[in-house]
Amino acid sequence: MIDDAMKRIDDAYTLRKLEEMVKINSVVGKEGEFAEYIKTELESLGLKTETQMVKPGRPNVYASLKGDKPGKRLNYNGHLDTIPVVEGWETDPFKPVHRGNDLVGLGSCDMKAGFASILTMLKAVQDSGHKLKGELSFSAVIDEEAMGEGAKAMLKTDFAKVNAIVLAEPYPCDESKPMPLGITGKILYDVHVHGKAAHGFRPQHGINAVEDAAKIVANLDKLTFLDHPDFHKGNYSTLKFEGGYLIYSVVVPASARFEVNRLLVPGETPETAIADMEHLVASLNLKSSVEVKIKPPKYEAYVMAKDDPIIKAFDPVYREVVGKAPVYQYAYGITDANTFAGVGKIPCLHLGPTRGISDPKKGGGTHEKNEYVDVTWLPKVSRMYVKIADSFLNN
Ligand SMILES: [Zn+2]
Repeated sequence: MIDDAMKRIDDAYTLRKLEEMVKINSVVGKEGEFAEYIKTELESLGLKTETQMVKPGRPNVYASLKGDKPGKRLNYNGHLDTIPVVEGWETDPFKPVHRGNDLVGLGSCDMKAGFASILTMLKAVQDSGHKLKGELSFSAVIDEEAMGEGAKAMLKTDFAKVNAIVLAEPYPCDESKPMPLGITGKILYDVHVHGKAAHGFRPQHGINAVEDAAKIVANLDKLTFLDHPDFHKGNYSTLKFEGGYLIYSVVVPASARFEVNRLLVPGETPETAIADMEHLVASLNLKSSVEVKIKPPKYEAYVMAKDDPIIKAFDPVYREVVGKAPVYQYAYGITDANTFAGVGKIPCLHLGPTRGISDPKKGGGTHEKNEYVDVTWLPKVSRMYVKIADSFLNN
């Protein structure tokens, strides 16, 4: 029966949808128009939709196809937002331009091509009249490129009561961007250092908060890092440092503050990370008093079993369609899977059209000017989506 759905995959539809989507500005914060487009398209395919207003004018969109027999539930997910327009675009970022196999436009790769393949999969299943067991559902969420509010809101709905989620992010699952079997979490340290003001000519009467803050930053390599068997150690990066006068004055600064991004491996939590920083600060015997806080965004690390049912559905399908074995990795980064899998404990697959292995000099990567997707990936991904849905739900 699934063969019929496979035969009904309409690659011209995929490309048409992708072009239409690139024309809609959905820069993070302005997802409303694109959400409406997706909702209308799903309804024209005969799916029942639901919207959840996450922020004013910024809804998540959901849809589902219930099977005629009880079974598992599988959700295909994407994020509606793109990053803002960066400098240096050579074409109009909202006008899709074909250059050989490349389709250039903002969000083409991250991740409107993924949506085009999901819609194609849903259309093929609908057109075939094929009923999958359980439930095949869809979610489009806002704000992935910022604080991930859309994914967090989705966790509170029934659309997160699923056995697995396929994220249509640009992951070719090859050497260039392997399929994550887990992803690091992250926190943002917000460290406040309080000293004592004094005349700058008599520093011995004060406590210099800037100098004490600098000592902490200079010693961050002594932070404790858990050595995880798969990920090994996380990392840190100081992102901001401030203190001292706003207008020139010869005063020993009484306060300083800095922010440090830290990637967490499974087993590390915001609480253990705060304890690690406090331990480091205590070891430095500073005169200043130090407050270690964290500020948003924070994400949970996760790791999934190599034999999770969604991986077992994906692996043979990838081999069949792409013609080689997928590559797996324990990844350093953040996606909405940190919310779905890290918080919601839902196994997540990352698979979507991308630009593949290309010359780095070519540019046009995700979050770069002249973003493009290699359109030869779309038919492959649409086919994998159909086969994964069949394998996961019907077996
Ligand atoms: Zn993305």
